[in-house]
Amino acid sequence: MPIMGYPGENDTAAPARAHSGRGAAAWMLGMPIEEFSCVENGTEIAADLCIVGSGPAGLTIARELAGTGIDVLVVESGGLEPDPGIDALSRIVSVGAPRILEPTHVRNRIFGGSSHGWSGRCASFDDLDFAARPFVPLSGWPVAPAALAPYVARATRHLGLGPDRPEGRGLAAARLRPRPPLDPALLRHVAWQFSRDPVEPQAFMRFGRRFRACTAANIRILLHASVTHLTTGPCGAAAGTLIESLDVANLEGRRAVIRAPTVVLCAGGIENARLLLCSNRVCPAGVGNVHDLVGRTLMDHPRGSLLHFRLADAAAIRAIYGPYKLDSEQGRHVFADGVALSPAIRARRQLLNCAAWLHEVRAPDDPIDAARRLISRASEAPGRDAWAVASQPLRVLSGLHESLVRRRSVTHKLERSHFLCAVEQRPDPDSRIRLGARRDRLGLPVAEIDWRIGEQEIASLTMLARLIEAEFTRTGLPRPIVADWVDSGRYPAGALMDAAHPSGTTRMAADPRHGVVDENCQVHGVEGLFIAGSSVFPTAGHANPTLMIVALALRLADRLKARAAGQESGRRRSAEPAAGILVG
Ligand SMILES: Cc1cc2nc3c(=O)[nH]c(=O)nc-3n(C[C@H](O)[C@H](O)[C@H](O)COP(=O)(O)OP(=O)(O)OC[C@H]3O[C@@H](n4cnc5c(N)ncnc54)[C@H](O)[C@@H]3O)c2cc1C
Repeated sequence: MPIMGYPGENDTAAPARAHSGRGAAAWMLGMPIEEFSCVENGTEIAADLCIVGSGPAGLTIARELAGTGIDVLVVESGGLEPDPGIDALSRIVSVGAPRILEPTHVRNRIFGGSSHGWSGRCASFDDLDFAARPFVPLSGWPVAPAALAPYVARATRHLGLGPDRPEGRGLAAARLRPRPPLDPALLRHVAWQFSRDPVEPQAFMRFGRRFRACTAANIRILLHASVTHLTTGPCGAAAGTLIESLDVANLEGRRAVIRAPTVVLCAGGIENARLLLCSNRVCPAGVGNVHDLVGRTLMDHPRGSLLHFRLADAAAIRAIYGPYKLDSEQGRHVFADGVALSPAIRARRQLLNCAAWLHEVRAPDDPIDAARRLISRASEAPGRDAWAVASQPLRVLSGLHESLVRRRSVTHKLERSHFLCAVEQRPDPDSRIRLGARRDRLGLPVAEIDWRIGEQEIASLTMLARLIEAEFTRTGLPRPIVADWVDSGRYPAGALMDAAHPSGTTRMAADPRHGVVDENCQVHGVEGLFIAGSSVFPTAGHANPTLMIVALALRLADRLKARAAGQESGRRRSAEPAAGILVG
């Protein structure tokens, strides 16, 4: 019987709670959500467990801890609505490979984190992604794929996904379309699935919106409260230290201290590292940074256009690599296929995991889009849109026929049909986040990011492009046109950008000399301080990160529950009074 659940899973409505001030409306939602501006300046807030950040990682853990008796406080820098002033706290200075600079395009400071604006594309890691590969220094996860598999399966439910592979069991229909006979020694088929909100299947899962519909008396949410410092006991002791408190602040100068014996950092791949580095009042190098690893081995998924197709071939390519739907017991799921390097060729040529998938860019004068804009009164250029509709009557009629009669998705007029690519990165200690000289409005040093893209990444993408070209030609598929930069061994500025997937900056390793967190995601040498999110990934495969982020968050939540239960029973056996602390 779930104690907290999504509507339909649990019909228990939380009683509306009386509360005054700016937080009042939020209290009515069922979840105790409070605005930091309603908290008295200088207050000390106590909790058993504090979660910093309310993105997919933080809210997955909170949801799992609902009803456990653990007093959980989720501290979120943003609010329920986007706010440019708050988003500006995520600004970076980029001194390495070009990254997207506009904060809202790559991170969202809002309840629900970047799931507020994400694209919902999910994929599993491959077994090889977890392996220690001699040609990828620092590779190898301290957790076996088999140990993570049950958490990945659980994570699919949190993300509104069906079984995570289209060929897997549990899907009512087999694939409707045959896959082209690409040589499996060279290329393999991969699939992505799109996260869907079970209540609003037209939308991707937005963690903030879904969580607000939940009820749980032991979870408190504090909005517009940014953590500015993590305070530990004395650092440098051989026996390690422990987390003691967190400082929080808002843009209006309000401050408070949170005392919690257990803290989980879920602030995202850049902010997790930045917060540890900024927390230098007790430990001058920052918390958990005895071996100077915090912020290093920054990885992302360098992404760009790898090859394109003639527009005359777009329909043939879409028939193979466009989205398709499969049904399971949980409902209808949307998949899309793509192509990746085979494990054999990766091992033989010492290459990284990389994959390519179809992306279509609609023409600005696509008459279907123009008609939609006109009908919904969203057109910014009504004359131009009206001309796009009037001058292409056949396209409009065929679109109506496809949508209303054949009930298929409409074929749009395209500007470009191409394969985008994403490549795994070799962990490079010089690819890193440092504290810059500039400060944000809370007085914290801005993250200075020196992101590096190495030769192995470019060589892997080059091989992928050339193999797709050769195999598509051999099997009679439309011949792609490979991007100009591919054979040059380098890439022009802007050809590859980050994919908003910062990873590896607090990497997981059993040995504290090689990683910031241990295999249970606890910061080495800091009792009670845990990290969730892609910053703990030792390597990041090609897969979009959120499925693995949620899987690791579920694993950590189980660990926190077991830890709390162990401490509770230990306390019952002890003659000492419990002092009101359940987790420590
Ligand atoms: C445009 C876009 C598209 C994307 N598409 C995909 C996709 O298709 N598939 C995929 O897998 N991933 C995608 N991602 C990435 C995905 O959104 C992230 O992997 C995921 O949201 C990370 O979850 P998280 O909980 O670790 O961190 P986040 O979602 O970043 O959440 C971190 C939270 O911590 C809060 N926070 C930060 N600092 C502090 C502080 N000091 N004090 C208090 N709170 C703080 C933030 O406000 C935020 O709410 C996309 C991202 C973007 C921006």
